[in-house]
Amino acid sequence: MIRTIGVVTPGGDAPGMNTAIRSVVRTAIFHGIRVMGIERGYAGLVGGDIHPMELKSVSGILNRGGTILHTVRCPEFKKKSFRKIAARQIKEHGIDALISIGGNGSLGGMYEMMKEHNLTSMVVPASIDNDIPYTDSTIGFDTAVNTALDAIDKIRDTAASHERIFVIEVMGRDNGFIALEVGLGAGAEVIMVPEVKCDFERISKKIKDGIDRGKLSSIIVVAEGVCRGHDIGDFIAKKLGVDVRVTVLGHIQRGGSPSAHSRTLACKLGSAAVELLVKGQKNKLVGMINGEVVPTDYSRAMKIKKTIDRSVLQLAEKLSI
Ligand code: ADP
Repeated sequence: MIRTIGVVTPGGDAPGMNTAIRSVVRTAIFHGIRVMGIERGYAGLVGGDIHPMELKSVSGILNRGGTILHTVRCPEFKKKSFRKIAARQIKEHGIDALISIGGNGSLGGMYEMMKEHNLTSMVVPASIDNDIPYTDSTIGFDTAVNTALDAIDKIRDTAASHERIFVIEVMGRDNGFIALEVGLGAGAEVIMVPEVKCDFERISKKIKDGIDRGKLSSIIVVAEGVCRGHDIGDFIAKKLGVDVRVTVLGHIQRGGSPSAHSRTLACKLGSAAVELLVKGQKNKLVGMINGEVVPTDYSRAMKIKKTIDRSVLQLAEKLSI
């Protein structure tokens, strides 16, 4: 019997997290379940930074980026001793089930804690990185892609006017989900992702071939995990003797109002996490696959590393010739 649910956002913030918090709180209250908000991620859980949430606590947040619960990285949570304190806090605050809204790290934290302590939880996948398996998309990914695309469209205008080559560095330390989607949508001449070994000479040749065929401007999208935008920009400028401008999109990709896709996903998954708890399920990653809510055991989700679809990279290459 679930009487109280705790909700926490431990990882990097993503647009739509607030929408998911609202969905969790309102679905729980609909079922007569109390909700406790845990401030500042797993650090707040360990420190007991926990307060009750009401219907009104989530008024007016659906369209706001970031997370009203705030987030702090907590590397100490990788230690058993800290997870033990967190488990004690959960019990002391009368929390029967915890819902963690976050990315791969948040999932890892829940998995470790649930292995050690007989607790109940759910993970709702929210991350601009889209690096969680068993869900087609994470909450916030679509918004981040649209934000980057909007910026690149603007850069494309100036690139075309000045007949220049632009390098755009996007987020993606360990994977190229954002770079790939953005590169395809923006018609980038080159997309550089961490999953594929990059070859500056080959990239430079592709840009040169384009110039020789009469291309007046080119866009290179590089995920931050490959190299700095300036590294490839300086290389091409030197090699081809052309003007190359570099833009690092940075944190604008994290912020902003969630897109329609991020909002609907957050509404559905946040609510589904509560419904699954009410039905007696526990310790599942709550994903969306082909429009269906799919709960997956943490242990299964932790075994798989989600990877980019390389055929999309080939498609982008073909279309940007
Ligand atoms: P995200 O959830 O967006 O991937 P992080 O990777 O920063 O963000 O992870 C969020 C938090 O999850 C970390 O600050 C840490 O407290 C916890 N965490 C991450 N990895 C682990 C792990 N392997 N074991 C236990 N806790 C972890």
